[in-house]
Amino acid sequence: MSVLSEFELIERYFRHHGQSRRDVQLAQGDDCAVVKTTPGTEIAVTTDTMVAGVHFDDKVPARALGHKLVAVNLSDLAAMGAEPAWLSLAITLPKADHTWLSEFSAGMHELAGYYHCQLIGGDTTRGPLTLTLTAQGLLPEGQTLVRHGAKPGDWIFVSGTLGDAAAALAAQRDDLEISSAGQKKLEERLFYPTPRVSLGQALRGMATSCIDVSDGLAADLQHILKRSEVGGRLFLTQLPYSDTLNTLSLEQKRHYALHGGDDYELCFTIPEEMRGSLETALTHSGVDITCIGQIDRQPGLRFFDGDNEVTASGLGYQHFGMATL
Ligand code: ADP
Ligand code: MG
Repeated sequence: MSVLSEFELIERYFRHHGQSRRDVQLAQGDDCAVVKTTPGTEIAVTTDTMVAGVHFDDKVPARALGHKLVAVNLSDLAAMGAEPAWLSLAITLPKADHTWLSEFSAGMHELAGYYHCQLIGGDTTRGPLTLTLTAQGLLPEGQTLVRHGAKPGDWIFVSGTLGDAAAALAAQRDDLEISSAGQKKLEERLFYPTPRVSLGQALRGMATSCIDVSDGLAADLQHILKRSEVGGRLFLTQLPYSDTLNTLSLEQKRHYALHGGDDYELCFTIPEEMRGSLETALTHSGVDITCIGQIDRQPGLRFFDGDNEVTASGLGYQHFGMATL
């Protein structure tokens, strides 16, 4: 291990190397970063932490960690309809491992650069590996997507496909038997999730509520229902699965889709009269969406297989005990 000073380490790995954002006045190098704001713009702020041995293990490549740290934060911004702008990284490292650092920072910069968002500062300390990222995003005034606006009659939608990441984790733990090619595909979703950034922005002024699916669809949709003081019906036959998940049994697929985690898709509600404009608005977002249910007044989330209501125990529900808090 070469003896890089903390300053050199930051300079080498945690300074933005591409074209800087014009709204960044000062980035790394001073006691604070300074950014410019625009009248009529609000700022959404979110933080996520990943702790070694709790949120990830040695099986996760360093590049994937960098990608995922940015992705989970951008997914929170997407759920609010915000446009990603600035990132701050608090990193605690057991040692300066340069292979690890260059892979990790490449994973971060790659995804951040794709969304034109800039790492503007942070903190570097020695200790057990812990990664904390704060992301800030821009929102036109009054257009924030929230969890509390769903109304009876609204349709419930979800983006992409569900359950892949949870199935990948199960395969790694030998709880699920799948071909090694299948496992690889699922791990792609677990390691390199795609934050639905342009979808979130396209939903401004259209969705009555929105959340990102990080703890499993059932749990996250229930946050919308509780905050909106409504209930909902979920159409089990409509749940969207990847080709890989479709090779599993119906019971397994439903289980991972409903109660898994780490999907980072968006779940949102759309009033009937907006359904037409939704199709048009989404032509550029590059992601498929699926209608999976409807909001009503009867409290709680109820599951339907065709016309038949299915109880949670009928779905083989067991808690995953995942490391998300
Ligand atoms: P201070 O002691 O004043 O907090 P530091 O010496 O910790 O400042 O950091 C020096 C500069 O480098 C600051 O501008 C800080 O924002 C930036 N910085 C430190 N660690 C990181 C990091 N992991 N990623 C990005 N910027 C960082
Ligand atoms: Mg200082």
